[in-house]
Amino acid sequence: QTVEDGREKGARRADGFILVAVRDLTEQRRLERMRADFVANASHELRTPLASLTGFIETLQGPAREDKDARERFLGIMLEQAGRMRRLIDDLLSLSRIELRAHVRPQAEIDLGSVIRDTVQALEPLAAKLDVEIRTDLPQKPLTILGDRDEMAEVFQNIVENALKYGASGKYIDISVYSEIGPQNAPWWAVKVKDYGPGIEAAHLPRLTERFYRVDVATSREMKGTGLGLAIVKHILTRHRARLDIESTVGEGACFYVRIPAVVRELANV
Ligand code: ADP
Repeated sequence: QTVEDGREKGARRADGFILVAVRDLTEQRRLERMRADFVANASHELRTPLASLTGFIETLQGPAREDKDARERFLGIMLEQAGRMRRLIDDLLSLSRIELRAHVRPQAEIDLGSVIRDTVQALEPLAAKLDVEIRTDLPQKPLTILGDRDEMAEVFQNIVENALKYGASGKYIDISVYSEIGPQNAPWWAVKVKDYGPGIEAAHLPRLTERFYRVDVATSREMKGTGLGLAIVKHILTRHRARLDIESTVGEGACFYVRIPAVVRELANV
């Protein structure tokens, strides 16, 4: 009560200044902790395949030296582990490149439709392998946005690949695009990627875009996941002033929505 009174009676500026300073310090500590956690997690993720590689090299130098079958098998596993390290490093580099550009707004006009069509085409072989059909419902006209083509391709590559990998128990995935009115009456393109797999429990949904967050680490590893895909997606979308919304009903599948500001003059002909 008295402090409140004091503030009201003229200590406002000084008080306000102290409050801001404290908040900044807390924010700075939080960021420092996040960075330290990230380095620790990344090191741990890299160490696991490295330990496996070292173990197999030692076995090949010793007990398995003369065993041709074991050698073939071990070399196969070693190649897989090396691939895992490479994917982790690629994703870590991707993340750091995007972070460096976080404050630069992409200025190029690109067609979202062609990005999605190219992504689907690139993922057709994986879909065929998993026996899932990708069904698309995209407007024919250009869906113009201001964006970085490679980064937007990375967004849809990650989301559609996840729908295929984690939703492979369903027969289809559906990709559609439609226009929506966003905040401040601004027009948006909404891209919806729906799968008919096992879905995701509600408690996990808000955490999926955290680095290294996986619902089931074993399944993610089996699917060649790094746990960084959706973190990369989130960073790219933030830079594009776009948003990611995830909805899911367990047992019925998951639905990922990307909502991105449209370039207005194109929307006039929708
Ligand atoms: P990962 O490299 O493990 O795929 P992501 O960041 O792309 O990492 O995804 C994080 C986690 O979200 C995945 O490990 C998986 O558990 C879950 N997930 C993502 N997409 C789906 C989906 N369509 N259906 C069910 N679970 C999903």
